[in-house]
Amino acid sequence: MTTRDGAITRVRGDRNSPVNRGALCGKCTLAYNGIYQDPAYRLQRPLKRVGPKGSGSFAAVSWDEAVTTIAAALHRIAATAGPHAVAYAHYTGTISKIAYAFPVRFFNRLGATEVEPDTICNMAGHVALQYTLGTSLIGFDPRTAKDANSIIVWGANPSTSAPHAHKHWFREAPGRKIVVDPVRHETARAADLHLQLAPGSDAALAFALLHVLRRQGRIDRRFVAQHVLGWDEIEPMLDACTPRWAEQVTEVPAAAIEEAARIYGAGPALVWLGQGMQRHALGGNAFRACAMLPAATGNFGRPGSGLYYLNLDGRARGLDDDYLVAPHLRRGARRSFSHMELASRLEDAAQVQAFMCWNINPAASNPEQRRLRRALGRGDLFTVVCDLFETDTTDFADIVLPAASFLEFDDLVASYFQLTIGPQSKVREPLGESLPNQEIFRRLARAMGYEDPELYESDEAILAHLLGGVSCVDGFEELKRRGTVFVSAEPVVQFADLTFPTPSGRIELASARAEADGHPRVPQPMSDPRPAPGRLRLLSPASAWLMNFSFANEAEVERRLGAADIALNPSDAAASRLQEGDLARISNETGEIVLPVRISDDVRPGVALSYKGRWPRREPAGVNVNALNPGQKADLGESTCVHGVEVTVGPLRAQASPPHERE
Ligand code: SF4
Repeated sequence: MTTRDGAITRVRGDRNSPVNRGALCGKCTLAYNGIYQDPAYRLQRPLKRVGPKGSGSFAAVSWDEAVTTIAAALHRIAATAGPHAVAYAHYTGTISKIAYAFPVRFFNRLGATEVEPDTICNMAGHVALQYTLGTSLIGFDPRTAKDANSIIVWGANPSTSAPHAHKHWFREAPGRKIVVDPVRHETARAADLHLQLAPGSDAALAFALLHVLRRQGRIDRRFVAQHVLGWDEIEPMLDACTPRWAEQVTEVPAAAIEEAARIYGAGPALVWLGQGMQRHALGGNAFRACAMLPAATGNFGRPGSGLYYLNLDGRARGLDDDYLVAPHLRRGARRSFSHMELASRLEDAAQVQAFMCWNINPAASNPEQRRLRRALGRGDLFTVVCDLFETDTTDFADIVLPAASFLEFDDLVASYFQLTIGPQSKVREPLGESLPNQEIFRRLARAMGYEDPELYESDEAILAHLLGGVSCVDGFEELKRRGTVFVSAEPVVQFADLTFPTPSGRIELASARAEADGHPRVPQPMSDPRPAPGRLRLLSPASAWLMNFSFANEAEVERRLGAADIALNPSDAAASRLQEGDLARISNETGEIVLPVRISDDVRPGVALSYKGRWPRREPAGVNVNALNPGQKADLGESTCVHGVEVTVGPLRAQASPPHERE
């Protein structure tokens, strides 16, 4: 960070960072040096709605008036409908710990209902790995790649979503690399083998790999006998899961399946299970199936082996995550619902009377986009949005609260890939009257008349408490001096003692908990049915120039992104009589959008690809790709099934109705 007279002149990567090695990715470089510091873009004062809901018409008010208005509404709702009629939603923002979690203390004290954060993203994978391994939050230490004979990246695109991992970690790892993904992205190109499977056929591929591994004698019988429950139920199922069978189901050539199994079975191996793979109707089952690979081959407990979904277990770093949200403040039983239900819940006054959110832009990122916007427009829904910028969601707010950026307050950052911890160091005062999320919620607590000291704990005290459990550093000042640090000098071996936090202490391929929850006891070699004739599977993964739904309001990012489009395989484009640049109507039972066609054989046949992250308010038709998402739930965790959406794609000119979105 370069500063002059208290102003930031340049944000760039830390040359001493072991992860980014001095270079931010392109999108962050543009956004952090652009909109994050630009007073013309940033919200600087609390705002109160003066126009119709959704119009984005506001007048500036004092902090005092803003929090007093909110407190009065919350007290009224709590007294009449009950505090559970207040729903709150949040997600990661720039993933700093306090700004992410501290506001939850307030809502615990109030007794409000949480919109389950991970259901918009990765909950199916969490539940699957909790059943199987007892945790989804302990992954392999990426540093252990130096000891791995091979790495499988399955359903993730690091070249877009984890550029430092793609650029350094993946490329420099000595082992053979396999990518499993319906899209040939940059990481797939950089791999030794790319299995370009049909979306939603992952479990079938995992079973076929196990079929071959068994034939090749790569099942670690001793490991299985000591540490795995349920292999005896899985093994007979493998007989039918031949590579030839899998070729029919997955459309991956049988020879490539044989080759992948040979590479994976040859020695210590890592599997990165990406979030894309579990955003399908059977995504939870797919995750359980893929987790069988390291279990059956004994790929746990030794360097260069393991499985990764997320490295988010606070205890691995010595961080007390529960302390951040103070669950003991909770009034009554915990209540929550899935993001997949947000539209239907918000449209029902009997269920929700106030909606509050921070670090999230659901009017752009959630399914059932038109229905959700109608619900947010409900006259009697009291809505409060904290953000740095005007967004599609702030447009519907009654009160908008300006949030400080990560450059403007101290906090802690724990990567969810590398086992590091880093300081978020304040380099300038918050812009205008903006405040860190935690200070906003301290003011709200005071306005509510709450007396619990946890609601007023200072950032300094929280940082001191959190870092008290972290052995690799002695307090925040030292962390600031050192920057991003690894929590241990040597790579951590995942599940080194081969004790798994499941009820049995073993890897549970057969899960009584899954069975009790109404799911199959063991993973199944199931796949999603192929789309009906004339339909395509719509994938809407992350764009290289957007971080989920952040940065879409940065002018230079917008320029580089160009207009939204839809990518089709040449065979599908020809079947739909579409050529490069033609306008296509993309529609299903939920909605309709019009986008120009890009023809690319990076997208496999049967798939249409349009990147997520656009803001409807900045799109010509006022919608983004989520207008097509019906909000179907995956098989586990009431989680998103966004990559399971099916659409019809055809030429705009061949159809009768005008080029607008409907729902
Ligand atoms: S988005 Fe991720 S990869 Fe890019 S600079 Fe920020 S932290 Fe690094």
